[in-house]
Amino acid sequence: MQRPPLPTQQQSQSHLQQKQISPTPVKRTARDYQFGTRIGEGSYSTVFSAMDIHNSKTYAIKVLSKRHIVKEDKIKYVNIEKITLHRLGQQHPGIVQLYYTFQDEKSLFFVLDFAEYGELLSIIRKFGSLSEAVSKFYMCQIVDAVKFIHSKGVIHRDLKPENILVAHDFSLKITDFGAAKLLGNSDDNDEKIDYNSVDEAQNVSDEDRKGSFVGTAEYVSPELLKHNICGFEADVWALGCILYQFFHGVPPFKGNTEYLTFEKIINIDYSYRSKYPLPPDVIEIIDKILLADPQQRSTIPQIQKSRWFQDVPWDDLNFIWHRKVPRFEP
Ligand code: ATP
Repeated sequence: MQRPPLPTQQQSQSHLQQKQISPTPVKRTARDYQFGTRIGEGSYSTVFSAMDIHNSKTYAIKVLSKRHIVKEDKIKYVNIEKITLHRLGQQHPGIVQLYYTFQDEKSLFFVLDFAEYGELLSIIRKFGSLSEAVSKFYMCQIVDAVKFIHSKGVIHRDLKPENILVAHDFSLKITDFGAAKLLGNSDDNDEKIDYNSVDEAQNVSDEDRKGSFVGTAEYVSPELLKHNICGFEADVWALGCILYQFFHGVPPFKGNTEYLTFEKIINIDYSYRSKYPLPPDVIEIIDKILLADPQQRSTIPQIQKSRWFQDVPWDDLNFIWHRKVPRFEP
């Protein structure tokens, strides 16, 4: 799909002022939307832009093939994604909001926020790497969103630039909660889910996930590879990898094969390239995250208190989410 061009510095705008649309408890069907371009394709889904015929707003509709989901044994993952988005999305600007779910004979439909600029990875690739100002701007949003996700008892488990989308105002939205782990009972909006299997998804046990690889090779934590342990610290590990990638264009652990990538992760084998000198304060954050022992790894509050972020008023959501976007180019 043709994405709109990225802004020059002059064109950058600070806004997240577009009014949030609150979901109404009306049962929807595909007939309520005028389907547009195909935006992307997942392993068992296709995403379209679509206009709500009632209010003319554009959404992204993820269409999942029921046959494919059943055949590939993905029911649990689809339900986890749906429940997690319901648990989180309506409460935080940094998470893709799920407005409606419905189904027809062949497909499940998720009506989501439309992230106009697509994946953050495409932006990193377009520029090769990001400027320090954009890196800090985006890291603030990611850290704030992940802190919120964790506060709701959810571990994302697959954080990476492909799963972070860029909205119309260049703010970020975390998506793809299919690999998430939900802790405890939800105290939230689960009753809004309008079709089946909520209980089934909430009962997914750790046992179910044992031995199964969750996440993406380059961002997976050493404790998952070595001991099959995956806690909140695994998301923090991924934050360290993403911060490195902002400056270097590629993640810190990348071998020619998945096996070689895993070997590098287990050996904490990464280095900084002189071609892209990193600010010492950024190196400090990354080095305190990319530690083998999850107990030694920085926590999100520790990251927020680090020197690089000392000018960031973390409690000021307006500052984190509604600020003018800095220049993209490094
Ligand atoms: P997989 O299921 O294999 O992990 P995926 O998670 O990328 O892949 P989808 O969630 O179906 O699969 O997304 C397919 C593509 O559609 C993504 O790569 C992304 O570029 C685009 N996309 C997904 N959700 C949105 C959205 N809310 N707004 C804009 N684009 C989106």
